[in-house]
Amino acid sequence: MWKEMIHHCKKELPYEACGLLTGKNGIAKTIWQMKNIDQSPVSFSMDLEQIRRVFETISKTDESLLGIYHSHPTDKAYPSAGDIANSNYPDVGNLIISFSNNIPVVKCFQIIGKTVIPLNIEVVD
Ligand SMILES: [Zn+2]
Repeated sequence: MWKEMIHHCKKELPYEACGLLTGKNGIAKTIWQMKNIDQSPVSFSMDLEQIRRVFETISKTDESLLGIYHSHPTDKAYPSAGDIANSNYPDVGNLIISFSNNIPVVKCFQIIGKTVIPLNIEVVD
């Protein structure tokens, strides 16, 4: 899933990519590649109808939304002013995959209002 997330972001370059991670007990189980309707290298917006379908699907499972990921094609792995302003899910992890260096860097943050809190992420098999 980790690889799929990075692969998805790589595939969408030079645009930002975005997606959702769902699971339970803090462990992500399913990745949902979402469409970036902005088609932009500096911002992303998800399609509301696509989000609605994902939530409808996961409502029939024991999974819930744990994370939202998106890429920064040229910026560092830290929420931009726009990311902070547009963040509507204070309870989930916001993963940012940065391609500003040769090796993709993934970092995770909780965004509560204007407060950004780094979260630890662990990749498990
Ligand atoms: Zn961003």
